[in-house]
Amino acid sequence: TQSAASSTLAFEVTRRDDVTPADRIAAVLENPGFGKTFTDHMVVATWTADGGWHDGQVRPYGPFQLDPAAAVLHYAQEIFEGMKAYRHADGSIWTFRPEANAARFARSARRLALPELPEADFIESLRALVSVDQDWVPAGDAGEKSLYLRPFMFASEAFLGVRPAQQVTYSVIASPAGAYFSGGLKPVTLWISTDYARAGAGGTGAAKCGGNYASSLAGQLEGAEHGCDQAVFLDSSTHTYIEELGGMNLFFVTKDGRIITPELTGTILEGVTRSSILELAKELDLTPEERRIPIQEWKDGAASGEIAEVFACGTAAVITPVGELRWEGGSVDHRREGHQDRVAEAIRARLLDIQYGRAEDTHGWLTRL
Ligand code: PMP
Repeated sequence: TQSAASSTLAFEVTRRDDVTPADRIAAVLENPGFGKTFTDHMVVATWTADGGWHDGQVRPYGPFQLDPAAAVLHYAQEIFEGMKAYRHADGSIWTFRPEANAARFARSARRLALPELPEADFIESLRALVSVDQDWVPAGDAGEKSLYLRPFMFASEAFLGVRPAQQVTYSVIASPAGAYFSGGLKPVTLWISTDYARAGAGGTGAAKCGGNYASSLAGQLEGAEHGCDQAVFLDSSTHTYIEELGGMNLFFVTKDGRIITPELTGTILEGVTRSSILELAKELDLTPEERRIPIQEWKDGAASGEIAEVFACGTAAVITPVGELRWEGGSVDHRREGHQDRVAEAIRARLLDIQYGRAEDTHGWLTRL
């Protein structure tokens, strides 16, 4: 593990002189999609083993110059985060629980033997980028638009050999995001992946590193071949317990008012949305439970009606109800006659109301950018 630097980085701003004209930005914000268009600037900072963090910049968005021997391209020493900037009705711009993302970024860094970026520098880097590119933050109307922020860090040292890099690059890019699913909440169909695991005991499942996403792709493809939108990963050693999706955590709502999510076993990501939902549960008269959940309990509970709702959650899509669950040789559907995703909708509305400043921030979750 490499130690954290304590000094505060300053981000020197170099604006591009050909910024995107207002009418072009307006056209993008009309229908942003997700992860397709990037703002005019980016944050870049460098860490070296002998000099710590330095050279913080906000500079014109553009390609990195990367040596072909850069360690990240060979050994995947890389981590990232995902969060959003929301514009409130009065025009002010806020983000949601950035300290939680900063803490997770630091945990990911420790697991990947990357240097930690202090929380203050992490949050300041978001503020530096958003203040230069604020015209790219959409109005947070009913369309649920936001500016998605992607902080990331990678081994940029040109060196072939398996050891922690002595030069590391930190960066933040930003991309306007629309409602993840246009036309309301569309339930997804999930595939239980038993041939592939996403993470194993002692591995990197609890870190947000690129390698976890690469290893989820084969399971995703298998799901797609079976007509499913996403794969559900199980524990890699027994294939018995539910873990999470490739990029979202899972929740189960029972008929008798419990809300259950897989406990943090070290192989799943600790979602910020997940922990927010656990805190909101009590306000919604639900009893939260974190424990190991056998996949059989899901199949049986869906068939008997004991499990009233299942939904996935994450920053990008907030809450997505699950309709059908498929596996090799079987399936079960939650949407029987009269089915409603009442809890999923209530939690989703509550989170969005807080994020967009339509409800009082009683938990102190918002930070102004
Ligand atoms: N699990 C995985 C594997 C993820 O990539 C994400 C997205 N960061 C989540 C869960 C949800 O986390 P969050 O609520 O912090 O977005």
